[in-house]
Amino acid sequence: MSTQNTPDSRARIAIVTGGSRGIGRNTVLSLARRGVDSIFTYRSNRAEAEHVVAAAAEAGRRAVALPLDTGDSASFDRFVGEVRQALTSLDAQRFDYLVNNAGTSLHNAFAETTEDELDTLYRIHFKGVFFLTQKLLPLIADGGRIVNISSGLTRVSMPGVTAYASMKGAIEVLTRVLAKELGPRGIGVNTVAPGAIATDFSGGMVRDNPEVNKRVAEMTALGRAGEPDDVGPMIAALLSDDNRWVNAQRIEVSGGMMV
Ligand code: NDP
Repeated sequence: MSTQNTPDSRARIAIVTGGSRGIGRNTVLSLARRGVDSIFTYRSNRAEAEHVVAAAAEAGRRAVALPLDTGDSASFDRFVGEVRQALTSLDAQRFDYLVNNAGTSLHNAFAETTEDELDTLYRIHFKGVFFLTQKLLPLIADGGRIVNISSGLTRVSMPGVTAYASMKGAIEVLTRVLAKELGPRGIGVNTVAPGAIATDFSGGMVRDNPEVNKRVAEMTALGRAGEPDDVGPMIAALLSDDNRWVNAQRIEVSGGMMV
């Protein structure tokens, strides 16, 4: 089994949050096809996570599923302990790639958005990414790479997403500053900003609501809504050594949505 552009023969290892479904799941499996093992997280859906472990095994790679609520930073020390054990089970002490992907949506008008809703999004989409990355820093190999998942909604403005889009905007700033701070360790940090992708996200709106799906297709240069398989392989490719000089960038993966 080939490994991802590795200078040595050791298989690379990724940590992907929210790897049980949607874009995260596809990322784990795309990495597996490139010879990368994964430790990935799920919040509640253990059965889906087990399917991903089995699918990675079919691709000839190992995957370990760990439960994590990325909105609960108090649990991160425990999680890091579990990551250490998972690394041992993968015959490694460090991992190479971190994909901060887990997330939930919120559609509410600015005037109606509550403090609780804003705090929840802050905890999952910003504070969680900030402190999870911080806690995992000692375990990321020098020369590793980080991808933070943002959204096309930081570039195009739509009503009803002030809280969500603002948190994603904060992640883009974090990405650039982090790239500066981690550069001395050879660690690259980039943002991937998907357009509208047909997943369970937002109650499966892009996938299951024919009107929304059609509207997205009309706004998109390539004429359809995105699928997880339009994004996961791109993230896996971005993490490879072929893209090692791409750093501190925001890359939109949308088929040309609203250009
Ligand atoms: P899905 O709803 O399909 O999957 C979300 C994943 O995140 C699941 O694995 C879920 O775990 C996990 N998750 C959700 N909340 C938490 C939490 N609090 N703690 C830990 N894990 C959590 O979403 P997508 O794949 O579509 O979205 C992935 C990322 O892409 C998100 O950050 C989203 O904001 C972003 N994005 C999505 C777009 C889209 O149109 N789909 C567009 C632009 C950006 P479990 O299965 O256990 O619930």
